[in-house]
Amino acid sequence: MYPSEVILEEQGLRDGLQVESMLLPTEKKVELIHRLMDAGLKRIQVGSFVNPKLVPQMADTAAVFAAIQQRPDVSLNALVLNTKGVERAVEAGFTHVAASISASDTHSRKNANKSLEEAMAEFESMVRTAKAAGMRVRGGLQCAFGCRYEGKIPAQRVLDLSKRHLDLGIDEIALADSTGMGNPRQMEEIMGQIVEMAGHVPVMLHLHDTEGKGLANVVAAMRVGVRHFDTAFGGLGGCPFIKGATGNIATEDTAYMLEQMGIRTGIDIAAIVAISCEMEEILGKKLPGKIKNVLK
Ligand code: ZN
Repeated sequence: MYPSEVILEEQGLRDGLQVESMLLPTEKKVELIHRLMDAGLKRIQVGSFVNPKLVPQMADTAAVFAAIQQRPDVSLNALVLNTKGVERAVEAGFTHVAASISASDTHSRKNANKSLEEAMAEFESMVRTAKAAGMRVRGGLQCAFGCRYEGKIPAQRVLDLSKRHLDLGIDEIALADSTGMGNPRQMEEIMGQIVEMAGHVPVMLHLHDTEGKGLANVVAAMRVGVRHFDTAFGGLGGCPFIKGATGNIATEDTAYMLEQMGIRTGIDIAAIVAISCEMEEILGKKLPGKIKNVLK
């Protein structure tokens, strides 16, 4: 029922840093990415191509990417939210982008200034542009398990949107519990169907621990076939447009639990703990991850 191996994608440098008021220097981001690769991460989200006026923390994504000493076994991607973002990612040399829309019409209007259908049309354009440039596309849905404005998102809507995403020929599909409202039963019911629908296309899950259910949701999703999870060192993260949104599930906590369960991640937990502790000092605050308090 449980896999022998799970792949974690580090999102601390994007989902984590985008909500911090401090601007981390480009060189520091590059250093952290090299250390994350040394610590065994095989997938890292480097940053995003969004409006630098609204999200100045991500304004240097192209410069960060250019300075990384890439490794053949590590896949680096950037988040994009519109076609212009895809074009900037292509220009910067990325070969892998993560594009997503919100499953909540209200969140989409507030966050992207688009109705759900308008966002879907933009998503199609993003996929077309990325594919034309020969990129690998991770396509996703935000707020798939609940929205602070709309409450519960109907499972059928999530399944329908996922099917439309898959029909566009995306290479990976990612569902995000952006609000942390999802629960383990929902994970089993929805993710099981997504895994079946996706066939050979890898299915990823992006979890926030806002309501304390992050790791329970990992376990539930693994039981129905999910093998890829997004995490952030220290449990850094949030969303500026979602009320009360807190961090992603912590990379070190997730890897620690999985190793205890006999599931390989290839991650050097002590090395991640060191990064998280250093980040606490840089930001001058405690981060929500738990195991660093035990192991440091
Ligand atoms: Zn997130």
